[in-house]
Amino acid sequence: MTNSPEHDRNLVEQPIWSGLLGHDELGDYLVGGQCSACGFTTLGLRDICPDCWQQGTMTEAAIGRHGTLYTYTVIHQLPQGYEEPFAVGYVDLDDGVRVFAHLDNTPASLTIGARLDLVSATLRHDETGAPMTGPRYHAANTGDT
Ligand SMILES: [Zn+2]
Repeated sequence: MTNSPEHDRNLVEQPIWSGLLGHDELGDYLVGGQCSACGFTTLGLRDICPDCWQQGTMTEAAIGRHGTLYTYTVIHQLPQGYEEPFAVGYVDLDDGVRVFAHLDNTPASLTIGARLDLVSATLRHDETGAPMTGPRYHAANTGDT
């Protein structure tokens, strides 16, 4: 069994919300659900479609890779576990869902209407100092406008 510092670091990393993030060959994504009857998309997988109310029609979907910044704020009164001011805001995902998420605290990311990409990042540290990972959006490197 390996006991290197890198191995230990990976062991203590934990998601801020279990089951929220996924990763595949295209990168990080949010775990969502999509209704096979009406096409409605949700953050998280649900048993019943919240739009057409059918049961058994929701299947897991990879959502949230890209979106557009709707609005944001920068938090300067830091909760426990945070070490520097951080930004949060609403992101309108290309999948049709609006999510409240952490944002990269840079001018490029904090421009209303900015195109954003999802990454898995350390958002804060728990009471033992272990990093807690979660979704964070940063300015997209699309090259288009
Ligand atoms: Zn539906």
